[in-house]
Amino acid sequence: MKAETASSANPAGYIAPFAQRNYYREAVKRLQGLARELRSDYGGKKSDFNILCNSPVPEKPLAVASGLGSIGRNSLIIIPEAGSLCIIAAMTLPFALEGDPPLTGSEVFPYCRSCDTRLPPCAAACPTRAVTGDGSIDLSRCIQWYASGKGNTVPEEIAQNWGNRLYGCTDCQDQCVHNMRPIQGLVTEEGVLPGYIDPQKLLTMTEAELKARFKGTSLGFSWLIPQGIRRNACMILGQYQRQQ
Ligand code: SF4
Ligand code: SF4
Repeated sequence: MKAETASSANPAGYIAPFAQRNYYREAVKRLQGLARELRSDYGGKKSDFNILCNSPVPEKPLAVASGLGSIGRNSLIIIPEAGSLCIIAAMTLPFALEGDPPLTGSEVFPYCRSCDTRLPPCAAACPTRAVTGDGSIDLSRCIQWYASGKGNTVPEEIAQNWGNRLYGCTDCQDQCVHNMRPIQGLVTEEGVLPGYIDPQKLLTMTEAELKARFKGTSLGFSWLIPQGIRRNACMILGQYQRQQ
């Protein structure tokens, strides 16, 4: 779903589908179950099975090396089962396994062959021209980067294209041909959030109230609460510049 523009009469804060459930928490839960099974079958201490999710490890290169998928021109990992609509989680093991080979060999952007090389759909769809098309994103122009609490200030051009996003810009991913199929195994009830939340109401809440409201959800991360959420709410309401 495309977020509405700033001129919309509807000020409801949009939460993108990927943030309406806490898929990171679900991934950790599934890996914990797998760790229990592996320990039961092969032994090992609990600390041998270290789960890494939303962590600083280089997830994309590891995912490519593990044969999960390949990097797309949108800079994201693309996997056959779900396009770029996936998260990456990892787990250490106390024993060696034979690794899978890279899924698509050494070809660069193997999943992007069918797209226009000058202006692929992911780049054309980006409202702030952040998708370079060469496999990277200009983060200084990316709404999602700012919405994640990054950047000291939001440039005027980005602010003008913010629309009603409380959290989650997916315009580039929405236009990718690999992201238009149903995805198996996606169901989770972890951290359920609605598609829209009133940004005005969020600005009246204390830090403790915001933490309680978003606890366990994909908006509950320490780096987002409270400053990030408040800034996003201000962006929707057009109050951001006045708060500088
Ligand atoms: S998340 Fe939004 S702003 Fe960022 S690159 Fe994609 S479309 Fe552009
Ligand atoms: S829209 Fe095309 S070029 Fe962009 S990531 Fe998807 S397949 Fe690759």
